[in-house]
Amino acid sequence: MVMWPLQLLAEKVKRFMPMRLYDTAQAAVVDIQLNDHVRMYVCGITPYDSTHLGHAATYLSYDLIIRRLEDLGHTVQLVRNVTDVDDSILPKARELGIDFLELAETEMNRFSQDMVALNTRRADSEPRATESIEGIVDLISTLVDRGHTYTTEGTTYFDVTTFPAFGKLSHLTEQEMIALAAERGGRPDDPKQRNPLDFVLWQPSADDEPSWDSPFGLGRPGWHIECSAMSMSALGPALDIHGGGADLIFPHHECEIAQSESANGEPFSKYWVHAGLVAYQGTKMSKSLGNLVFVSDLRKTIDPRAIRLALMAHHYRSGFEWFDDEGPQAQRDLERLVRSAGGAEPAKGGSLIDQVRDALDDDLNTPLVHQLLLKEAQAIEKGETSASPGCLVASAALCGIELR
Ligand SMILES: [Zn+2]
Repeated sequence: MVMWPLQLLAEKVKRFMPMRLYDTAQAAVVDIQLNDHVRMYVCGITPYDSTHLGHAATYLSYDLIIRRLEDLGHTVQLVRNVTDVDDSILPKARELGIDFLELAETEMNRFSQDMVALNTRRADSEPRATESIEGIVDLISTLVDRGHTYTTEGTTYFDVTTFPAFGKLSHLTEQEMIALAAERGGRPDDPKQRNPLDFVLWQPSADDEPSWDSPFGLGRPGWHIECSAMSMSALGPALDIHGGGADLIFPHHECEIAQSESANGEPFSKYWVHAGLVAYQGTKMSKSLGNLVFVSDLRKTIDPRAIRLALMAHHYRSGFEWFDDEGPQAQRDLERLVRSAGGAEPAKGGSLIDQVRDALDDDLNTPLVHQLLLKEAQAIEKGETSASPGCLVASAALCGIELR
């Protein structure tokens, strides 16, 4: 086929069209304009329980974004922290009667095994809060020097009245923020706070909790300041993409913005991309309800590639319910894809991979990708001449699913 110059130009332009993703701060799907090198920070786990399907869905979303950005020619530097000291891991370690670092170690190993099995990219660095105390203390000191803090009875707080843009990420009213803060680990009723939305930067430790020396007294950091300090030391003051579960938008990410921008005087992250939450058969999936679906349990009967495929059938942002029959269905779908691929070499081009790329660029439309892959398998089964096992292999590989 003769390729006319205009067609060539159109193809070229298309190839350099950016991905479009929903940016929480702008509350819209926007073109993601990035330099060659992309600095991405994704809030990691608090290692006090095993990886559940909600974690898997969240980290799979960023993995797909990274794979597509790399496909577009970017290099992506991924930093995913480990919150190994905070208000959730310490009580759990106390309940189990073990050292919190021992608990962290065990759960971090389980998490790594699950992530490797799911074929998600390894993070370039995984800073741990307990190994980042110096940077955390330095950052709090900067905030103290700049007049953003106050200390009451040994606890140092961030004073939100010094950051008028507080709320710009979540777009919540003050009353909504106060209600959510109470639900998500904040202490809006704490009489030591000047404002219900102020939050802890540094606090005294209980007798059986770890503590570090600091200019603000012996104690331990608040949760939010950990991520601001860890992202800054690994990636610098400004990020390209910051990610995490949607339940982190407020207060965690709102507080990160307040701290980082108050300390550095520049925008913290160019884009904010959040993954929706996963429910289980009609009920919110939560530790307290005891209905968490663990990846390690699913892996006993379902190929991890099928878990990936099953999660891709849901849009990353919508939040979805997981039903027990989805695993076996995805296993059958995977077997069908493998059979249709027939061990073919991955093809270099083809219309399927272009359609998959377009779908990924369209705010990570993985349900459409899922459909496209299965439709191609069906066309191969029917012997349609336009169908290509090599294209199927290459398209699935772009999504982290190896069919060969
Ligand atoms: Zn975080």
